[in-house]
This record gives sequence, C-alpha cells and structure tokens, in this order.
Amino acid sequence: KETRTVLESADISRALTRISHEIVESNKGVDGLVLVGIPTRGTILAQRIAEIISRIDGSTPVAVGSLDITLYRDDLARNPMRPSQPTEMPVTGIDGTTVVLVDDVLFSGRTVRSALDALNDHGRPKVVRLAALIDRGHRELPIRADFIGKNLPSAKDERISVRLEELDGEDSVTIS
Ligand code: 5GP
Ligand code: MG
Repeated sequence: KETRTVLESADISRALTRISHEIVESNKGVDGLVLVGIPTRGTILAQRIAEIISRIDGSTPVAVGSLDITLYRDDLARNPMRPSQPTEMPVTGIDGTTVVLVDDVLFSGRTVRSALDALNDHGRPKVVRLAALIDRGHRELPIRADFIGKNLPSAKDERISVRLEELDGEDSVTIS
C-alpha cells in the first residue's frame, strides 16, 4: 500500500506555532491557561505548544498536564487498552481555568469524550477547548476541535501516522 507524506517537519512547526497564537488570542493571554495532553503524542504536543506560548507571551509559564483516559473508554470491555501514561495534573488544579485538551489525531471523538469524563474528576474548568494536530473526520459524537493543525479528509480504513521527534526520532505525518 502506498504512503504519502501530509506534513513535513517544518509544516508541523508552523501548524503548532499558529495553534499557539490562536490559543493565546482566544484566551486573551496566558492567565488561567492549562494545556492537557492525551497520551502519548498529545502530551508531547501539549508540551511543545506550552513552550511556543511561553516564547510568545513569557509573562507566566503555561501549566501542562497529561490525562490517562484508559479507564474512561466506552469501548473498554470490547477493546481493552493498555494503560499508557499516568495522569499528571498541575498541582494548582484546574478549577476555574481554561483547559485546552491536546491530541494528535481527532477521529470518532470517543477519546475526547473520555477525556472530558476523566477531566471531570479533577475539577471544574471555566471552559474546555480542544486542539488537534490532525482532524481526519468521521465523527461519531457531537465533538469538534477549536484549534486544528490540518483538516485531512480520510477514508475510514486509512491510517494516519504521526511521528514526533521526542518519541520517533523525526517529525512527520503520513497517510496510508
Ligand atoms: P477517536 O477516539 O476520535 O476515534 O480517535 C482519536 C484517538 O485515536 C487519538 O488519541 C489518536 O491518537 C488515535 N487515532 C485515531 N485515528 C488515528 C489515526 O489514523 N492515526 C493516529 N496516529 N492516531 C489515530
Ligand atoms: Mg492517541
């Protein structure tokens, strides 16, 4: 089967830079902003966005968390997942904050629904937004992303591979 490159390293950087600016603009700064990644690659992207944001607006460091959603999946019984990465939330909590959930690929929306459930156990944010590097369509729930790196219409059986330097030794997005 053929594989096609959708984003190269520089494209990913530019997309993350744009998303970072959009987040700062919509939040009117960095006050009360918490980025929460969905493991594994969503957490890496959340860390990168936090770094870019602190370069854009260095007034306050941006809190970053990571949410283990394994136990919240609605398909847990059908499709047992191995625990990926433990939940780590900012010590200051999320009450009253603007949480931006970050994931690499948005597909059916079920992962995000689980993340909202998991988040609920940690407090009550003022608002929750969603950022995804790739939106590949095929939603099964009324969920949409507020910040999108690239809309990538895909066939349901296609597979998008997101590779990130920290984990995979290079930055790229391919579809096959
Ligand atoms: P959903 O729950 O929206 O169906 O799928 C989103 C979750 O599954 C994300 O955490 C994402 O990492 C993963 N995912 C779904 N489809 C793909 C895909 O085509 N490529 C990659 N890399 N991850 C996907
Ligand atoms: Mg994932």
